[in-house]
Amino acid sequence: MSTYRKILVAVDLSEEAEQVLQTAADIAEANQAELFVLHVADNPVSPYSQFPEFSAPVSAAEIKESIFAQLARTVENVGLSRELITIDLGRSIDAIVERSDEHQCDLIVIGSHGRHGIQLLLGSTANGVLHHANCDVLAVRVRETIEQ
Ligand code: AMP
Repeated sequence: MSTYRKILVAVDLSEEAEQVLQTAADIAEANQAELFVLHVADNPVSPYSQFPEFSAPVSAAEIKESIFAQLARTVENVGLSRELITIDLGRSIDAIVERSDEHQCDLIVIGSHGRHGIQLLLGSTANGVLHHANCDVLAVRVRETIEQ
């Protein structure tokens, strides 16, 4: 059985991210691998695009800080350290592949679901990463979280 030494898990800000993180954490533990948690935020071309609740323009640093706080809770919910988190700006597929190359990861763990009909035609993040990655890619089929 092959073992993985360095694993990058790509997480969005959805409720389902915890499922992807949990799978990555389990694989990292079983392989005693190093784990990197990556989120890619939109480049703030329009500072209001991602955070319409802000009434003033926000800097990239403020965006990262806000996302970090949110992700830190998710990461800690599955027993991981917030120090594993990196937030990059840019296009998610490119950034995920670039970071995994930079860290010489041998596995990328990513979520996959069938919710975005149009994205299935155009290619989801998981699909794009699968086609461009230079290492193994595990697509975790995420179950939609049903809000009570
Ligand atoms: P989607 O393309 O929206 O179906 O997302 C599928 C999976 O891609 C998510 O479960 C994450 O693992 C990953 N992903 C999507 N967007 C991002 C992002 N902005 N940063 C990091 N990972 C992402």
